[in-house]
Amino acid sequence: MQETFNLSNQLEKINKSLFNESDLYKCVGCGFCLQSCPTYIETGLEAESPRGRIALMKAVNEERIGIVKNVTDHWDLCIQCRACEIACPSGVEYGKLINTTKILVNENTKKSKLEILSFKLGFLIIEKKYLLFSIGYIIKFYKFVGLQSLLRSKLIEKLFSQKISTLEKKIPELSNNFFFNTHKKIPVKKGNLKRGKISLLVGCVMCITDANAIYSTIRVLNFNGYEVIIPKPQKCCGAIQNHAGYQQNLIKLAKNNIDSLLECNPDYIVSCSAGCGAQLKEYIHLFEHDPSYKIKAEKFSNITKDIHELLVRNGYKKPKGKINSTVTFQSPCHLSNAQKITSPPIEILQSIPGIKYIKMNDKGECCGAGGIYSITQSEMSNLLGKKKALMVFNTGSNIVTTANPGCAIQLRTHLNNPKNINKPILVNHVIELLDKSYTLEENTQ
Ligand code: SF4
Ligand code: SF4
Repeated sequence: MQETFNLSNQLEKINKSLFNESDLYKCVGCGFCLQSCPTYIETGLEAESPRGRIALMKAVNEERIGIVKNVTDHWDLCIQCRACEIACPSGVEYGKLINTTKILVNENTKKSKLEILSFKLGFLIIEKKYLLFSIGYIIKFYKFVGLQSLLRSKLIEKLFSQKISTLEKKIPELSNNFFFNTHKKIPVKKGNLKRGKISLLVGCVMCITDANAIYSTIRVLNFNGYEVIIPKPQKCCGAIQNHAGYQQNLIKLAKNNIDSLLECNPDYIVSCSAGCGAQLKEYIHLFEHDPSYKIKAEKFSNITKDIHELLVRNGYKKPKGKINSTVTFQSPCHLSNAQKITSPPIEILQSIPGIKYIKMNDKGECCGAGGIYSITQSEMSNLLGKKKALMVFNTGSNIVTTANPGCAIQLRTHLNNPKNINKPILVNHVIELLDKSYTLEENTQ
């Protein structure tokens, strides 16, 4: 028997501020969003488009259909890139709709024991740094002793199932040195004008996959007169949990981060990860009906800035060190679509002497990373990753920059696959290049 489920009734049970029932009916079905949706472009199916997914939400809300797998599958294939939101002339806030739908489905449907265990384990790893770092070291060992090359050899590939082989290929490249947070406070150098105090969110996975970007962010902020404080009790921002519909996990993490990052009374809270920054800015909506956190959450989200946004808005020292490279930029969806930040990273790149910036010939399509999407929907993620790698290659650049660890992992995976691209292309954070230019400048003085 089909389980009936009314979205608006269920909303009463959770955070009402996420969306109103009327938001569902803002969609007029014009279809302007279709060509911006990567899953629609790949499949050509209405049910894999924003309009189709909203139609399914309405049908479930009106109890015309039940909340069954062949309905939830279409929501699950959505990357939550929010490109449709930017394209929509009617102002449909698709991000809120899909987010709330996922929460309601997650809280109202049965899952297999394996699924529950996988999610619990995954969240535990990203929420407990010691577990994350331990896994990081196990991966390093696995690569160091040559087990990865052995497993990837043709013969061994045949011995394992396709699923295991695909998962193994998702093991990311790791930073040489992980970022350990030991409650650091980096004061402004003596003699420099102090421009403000920053409380920095360093994230979870980024500490082991893109630690250099964090170190660069600290140096760049410091070079520009900001005192940087990295509160130790901070945890994962909760974006991955949120996208999977685990709202209680998100709320717990949000409360922890609000308390720990605000404790030093900063002028700004900064993130160099687009996904984390977008999530931090949305904490404000989580506590609209919670008097104990409402005011703190408002303050928190209002002073949260993406690193590029902060530098361009407040001004930064123009870099003088020359970097002779051809560079393109992959804009993370959570920077351009969720935070609506588009030009600052490019402005920074173009201000670095020697850099020839080449715009990618794309329409801002998602690279297919999407948090755990690359694992849960690996086929679609791989299709989009390959496409993006080719776009990067076609620019002729020797460096592709981005501003989100998920995008960086996805780009490295697909650019380092000789089946896709046969040319070494470095993947860097924009701020790493700015830091490099400042360092070159300092070294020549
Ligand atoms: S989501 Fe917006 S653009 Fe897409 S069909 Fe609905 S109203 Fe049109
Ligand atoms: S969020 Fe992205 S994948 Fe999902 S419907 Fe919108 S454009 Fe398509």
